[in-house]
Amino acid sequence: MSRTRAHRAAIAVAAICLLSGLCEFAEAKKLNVVTATTDMAALTQEVGGDRISVDSIAKGYQDPHFVEAKPSFLLKLRQADLLVTVGLQLEIGWLPPLITQSGNPRIQVGAQGYLDGSQFAEILEIPQGVVTRAMGDVHPLGNPHYWLDPDNGRRVARGIAGKLGELDPADASYFQERFQDFDKRLTAAEQKWDADMAPLRGTKLVTYHNSFTNFAKHFHLEVIGYVEPRPGIPPTPTHTIDL
Ligand SMILES: [Zn+2]
Repeated sequence: MSRTRAHRAAIAVAAICLLSGLCEFAEAKKLNVVTATTDMAALTQEVGGDRISVDSIAKGYQDPHFVEAKPSFLLKLRQADLLVTVGLQLEIGWLPPLITQSGNPRIQVGAQGYLDGSQFAEILEIPQGVVTRAMGDVHPLGNPHYWLDPDNGRRVARGIAGKLGELDPADASYFQERFQDFDKRLTAAEQKWDADMAPLRGTKLVTYHNSFTNFAKHFHLEVIGYVEPRPGIPPTPTHTIDL
C-alpha cells in the first residue's frame, strides 16, 4: 500500500469511528475500578466479571492502615471510574491525599465513583463517646476489619454490584447475576467452613492486631487480648508479659 493510500485508509477508519461513536464505545465499555485493598478487589472482581478491570492499591502483604504512597498510585486513580474503599478511617493515613492529587472528579469523596464498603457491612466495636486517632487508636469509628466475616463479604459484594450497575446500566443485570452466583457459592463454602470450625467454638484467642473481631463473632471464637496494647500502638514488654 502506498503512503497516500495508507493515509486515506487511516482517515477513513477515523471517520467511521467519529460517525458511529463505536470506537469510543468499545474503549469505554469496561469500567476501570481501583480498590484500596486486595479484599475489596477480589469482591469487585467476583461481581464485575469481564465487564470491568480492577486493581488494588495496597498489596495483600501490606498493613492497610499504613501504605506508602507511590506516584504509580496517582496514575491508577487518575484513570479510575470507581474507587472502592474499606472506610472507617482504615485508609485515612494515606488515601485521602492521593484522591485529591489524582484530580479525578469521578472518584472524589461524595462523587458517584466513590464507594465506601463499610456502609454495607455489620460494624462491630463502634466506640461510645469520643475516640480520636490522637489517642493512638486507629479504629475510631468501629472495627474496620469487617471483611473477615463472610456475611460481610456477601453484603459488600451486593453493594458493589449495585454501584457497578449504577455506573454501567447496560450491564446492571449481568452484575446482579454475577452477585447471585457469588452468593450461591459463598453459601456452599460457608456450610463447609462452619463445619470445619465447629470443633473450635468457644476457643480463646490472642491476636496481634485487633483485626479478627468479625471473624471471631462469625465462628464463635473468643478474643481475649491483643499483642498491641491499642490498635496501631506497638507492643511493650510489660503488656506482652501480662498477656
Ligand atoms: Zn486495624
